[in-house]
Amino acid sequence: MGNFQKDISIRNEAVPTRPTFGILIETYGCQMNVYDTQAIFGLLDPSHFSAQEDELAADVILLNTCSVRDHAEHKIFSRIGEIRHRRREAGLPYPVIGICGCMAERLGKNLRKGVNPVDLVVGVDNYDSLPGLLHDILDEVGSLPRAVTGHRADTHYVAPPALYPTNNSHLVTIHKGCDYRCTYCIVPATRGPQREKDPEAILREIRKIVAAGGREVTLLGQNVSAYHWQKELDFAALLEQVAAEPGLERIRFLTGHPRDMFPHLMDTIGQLEKVCPWLHLPIQSGSNRILRRMKRLYTRDDYLGMIEYARRVIPEVSFSTDFIVGFPGETPTEFQDTLEILRAVKYDQVFSFKYSERPGVPAARLEDDVQEQEKKDRLAELIAVQKEIWEREASGFIGQIWTAVVESPARRPKGAWRLRTANNRKVVISGMELEVGDSVSVRITGHQNTTFLGDAI
Ligand code: SF4
Repeated sequence: MGNFQKDISIRNEAVPTRPTFGILIETYGCQMNVYDTQAIFGLLDPSHFSAQEDELAADVILLNTCSVRDHAEHKIFSRIGEIRHRRREAGLPYPVIGICGCMAERLGKNLRKGVNPVDLVVGVDNYDSLPGLLHDILDEVGSLPRAVTGHRADTHYVAPPALYPTNNSHLVTIHKGCDYRCTYCIVPATRGPQREKDPEAILREIRKIVAAGGREVTLLGQNVSAYHWQKELDFAALLEQVAAEPGLERIRFLTGHPRDMFPHLMDTIGQLEKVCPWLHLPIQSGSNRILRRMKRLYTRDDYLGMIEYARRVIPEVSFSTDFIVGFPGETPTEFQDTLEILRAVKYDQVFSFKYSERPGVPAARLEDDVQEQEKKDRLAELIAVQKEIWEREASGFIGQIWTAVVESPARRPKGAWRLRTANNRKVVISGMELEVGDSVSVRITGHQNTTFLGDAI
């Protein structure tokens, strides 16, 4: 016994004590990055790294970036300069700054050069190298390459169940990358070809979330509707397996490609009670010629037919979408075709953007011939038309009774709660003691933009 005690003390003395470093990870872009940020935290040894929210106190700042638009990348370059400026002003040493995500993949080691070079660059399939790289930098070993990028087909990260999940829904990526070649899109280059996560691994991840108290998941991917595990199990079959998990109450998913929204998938969504009736289906344009130029692989009639079918088989279904205005060659008449789609579908939410050329994508070879002012005007018109449509739609919901789940305290008014319906409508109610996760019947009394106001009944 005596020897055993001695052994332990000798071993303890021999372990070098490493300080705890504060790490701040800022997440930009899509939900895939939100998930990856959780996965990165899961990879770091908590006895050496603790989450830090103050940029002046962090030893390491990682920017988990997006490359979808030019503007998103510019924001990152100014952010790097801003972090260093604030540290200088405060008389503090610079933190270790690293770039993760799509920009890391697109620009690689070039991010280590230029006016504001960063200390490390880690692409989307290489986050498991982060602990070693950070050790190499923080302990001043300096033996590893500081830019690690490139796709690894079988690498899938698993984020630990989040303490504070997004919208009370735990994100679970089910695949990565994309096999489509939409001509404006940088994702196939930054995220690589589509590779599915093993359904068993997905179910294990969901069981852990449920065991940790989670009741809702959002299945994530660039194109979840194209999920196909070894030609045996498609997305509809995966939804059936996930819905069979005891303890799980709600399933959402993001994003589906309209081309893969086959009738049998929509039938399954309509039949499975746990699957929320909300479809985010990016159409991008209402003009067939522009859709062909974008290589979206459906026509406006295919899309409208799919919406009509979904309305028939999915009770209470709601829709949201994305539009790109001012795509190369888009004429004023073709833009009007896009506005017609808004009027026909009556979306709950629309995310619209001006076309932004990305280097290296096929659309970059097309002449970007819609003038900047014209793009701005079209965007403003689209937003105004959607607002008008939504005002009419939303007013029609007043007096209805909905079931909604509490997500978080609302920012305003004080003491109010923010809830979400299964079909993704936000509702704010006050005057009640509630808890996150409670399900409440609400009478709708009004709305402000896309948020409804209501009273619990
Ligand atoms: S479906 Fe098209 S827009 Fe979506 S990620 Fe793939 S290439 Fe990009």
